[in-house]
Amino acid sequence: MPPVFRFAPSPNGYLHLGHAYSALLNADLAQRSDGQMLLRIEDIDPARCRPEFEAAIYQDLGWLGIIWQQPVRRQSEHLADYRAALDRLRGLGLVYPSFESRAEIAKLVAEREADGAWPRDPDGAPLYPGTAKQLPESERTRLTGQGVPYALRLDMAAAVARAGELAWTEQGEGPLSERGRIHARPEAWGDVILARKETPTSYHLSVVIDDALQGVSEVVRGHDLFHATSVHVLLQHLLGLRQPVYRHHRLIADDAGHKLSKSTRATGLRELRAAGVTPADIRRRVGLSQDRLS
Ligand code: GLU
Repeated sequence: MPPVFRFAPSPNGYLHLGHAYSALLNADLAQRSDGQMLLRIEDIDPARCRPEFEAAIYQDLGWLGIIWQQPVRRQSEHLADYRAALDRLRGLGLVYPSFESRAEIAKLVAEREADGAWPRDPDGAPLYPGTAKQLPESERTRLTGQGVPYALRLDMAAAVARAGELAWTEQGEGPLSERGRIHARPEAWGDVILARKETPTSYHLSVVIDDALQGVSEVVRGHDLFHATSVHVLLQHLLGLRQPVYRHHRLIADDAGHKLSKSTRATGLRELRAAGVTPADIRRRVGLSQDRLS
C-alpha cells in the first residue's frame, strides 16, 4: 500500500512560512514514496474560521506547486462522524459533561494553586480540576435541562486504566524530537475536552477520526503537536483505529528567532508573494532542497 500523507491547516488565518515548510515536506515525502498527498481543512471552530482564509489556503498551496488529491475533506461537513465516535466513547463510560465557565475553572485552579503547585499540561495550561466528574446524574440532567452550556470531557484516569501502556513510532527530525518508540503520556493532559454542547467535536477527536477515515499512514506535522500525540494514540486505541507513524518536524522561526504566528505579516505567504518572492525562494528559506526528488 502506498503511504498516505496529509496537510491539515485550520482556516483561521493566512498561511506563513511554517505552514509552507510543513505542506512542502508532506508533498515531497509523498512524491518520493509514490504516496498520496491529501489536504484537509480543519474548520470545526465557526468563531475563528473564515471562507477567505480557506480560499487563501488553496491559492497559497497551489502557488507553492503542491498538488493534492480531491476531494478535500472539510471537517465541518463531517460532524456526524465525530458524533458517532463520541457516542462510542460515551458508551464505554469514558466521557462526562462539565458545566463550569472558563472563569469558574480559573477560580477552581487558583484555589488549588493557593494550596501549592497545580499541574499544567505540556502546552502550559493548568489541568482541569475534575470537579464535574463527581456530579450526580440527577444534577447533570437538571443542568442540561436548564440549557447550561457544557463541555464533554474524557475521563483520563478511566481511559488510561482501560488502555494500559501505549506508544507510537516517531520518525521525527531535528534536535527537539525523540525518535523510535515513544512512550505515550496522555495523563499529562488531564480530562481533555472532546466536544462542546454546540460543537460535537474537538481538535483531538476529529484529527484522530479523519486520519483513520482517510487512511493516513504518516502524520507529518510540527513539533508543537508532539505531546498531543499522546492523546491521539489513546483515542485511536479506545476507538479501535489504526495508528499512523508520526514525524514531528522542526518549526520555522522568523529572522529574530521567534515562533511564527498567523498574524506575522513579514512571513505570510501572500505578503512574500506580493513582494516578488518565488516558490523556489520559499523552499530555500525553509531549508528544503530545490530538487523535490533529491
Ligand atoms: N489543524 C492543525 C493546525 O493547523 C494541525 C493538525 C495536525 O496536523 O494534526 O495546527
